[in-house]
Amino acid sequence: MSDPSKRCLSCGDSFQLFRWLNDAELAYVVSKVGRAEAGTFRRCTHPGCLRVQPHFAFKRGFRLPEQFR
Ligand SMILES: [Zn+2]
Repeated sequence: MSDPSKRCLSCGDSFQLFRWLNDAELAYVVSKVGRAEAGTFRRCTHPGCLRVQPHFAFKRGFRLPEQFR
């Protein structure tokens, strides 16, 4: 098992734990980047953080809307 922590630009570019997306989060990401790429996205678990990003390309992530907070 590799280290699940990744850099989060929304958390001051610190290392945070990322988890798989839930169904609602995944549906939103699919609407933004398409289904193929959405499968590579993870969400930052830091409290209050809305960032999602591809597991191996942290710079290509973005923030979820406020309703996901
Ligand atoms: Zn974060």
